[in-house]
Amino acid sequence: MALQIIPFQRSINTCYILKDKGAVLVDAGYPGCAKPFLELLAKHNIKPEEILLIIPTHGDFDHAGGAKELKELTGAKIAMHKRDKENLEQSIFHWPEGVSAWGKMSRTMLMPFVKKIGSFEPAEVDVVLDDQGMSLKEYGIDGEIIYTPGHTYGSISVILESGDAFVGCLAHNRLPFVFRPRLPIYAMDIELLKESWVKVIKLGAQTIWPGHGRSFPLEKILKYLN
Ligand SMILES: [Zn+2]
Ligand SMILES: [Zn+2]
Repeated sequence: MALQIIPFQRSINTCYILKDKGAVLVDAGYPGCAKPFLELLAKHNIKPEEILLIIPTHGDFDHAGGAKELKELTGAKIAMHKRDKENLEQSIFHWPEGVSAWGKMSRTMLMPFVKKIGSFEPAEVDVVLDDQGMSLKEYGIDGEIIYTPGHTYGSISVILESGDAFVGCLAHNRLPFVFRPRLPIYAMDIELLKESWVKVIKLGAQTIWPGHGRSFPLEKILKYLN
């Protein structure tokens, strides 16, 4: 069976079901995603229990917040990097600082609203990743999870042998953040984030699938990395 990439769009977030010999979910969105997730699975003839692993790219509420209900729905394990896992396990609201003028302004403006919708149920992380990442072969996916810090200190990405890279908030590609593919407007360490891009490029990434917005070719982001 050929690799399938199925975006799971939830308001401003895009999560991805990757299905090959096995199936995994990259990012879990924010809470309240159970019903649309089941509908999407049904549409693609995937049973909930076929999802073997949930991989929140980092511990922000909009990427990890839906993990608990999706874990209960599927029985999948949750894999996260050791530096972000506490956010999910202890239900800690987290949103990195703005690194552009709009990033700083929008974070201040939206914080009261986002804090209201940003609470979520904690969930236990079953697979704790260190900086070495891990292969996804045992989950039936030809690719790996790699450590790509910068947006948060525990951010990870999934890179497939096909050249498809699921990078969470290593890039943004939609409003209200940006108009076109760019580095994220929120980050804990933007220089570290650029180093993570070097890793992603070295591993042969060609098509970038961000956590917010549509996929784009790698070339579109290169000019922001110098
Ligand atoms: Zn984030
Ligand atoms: Zn986000």
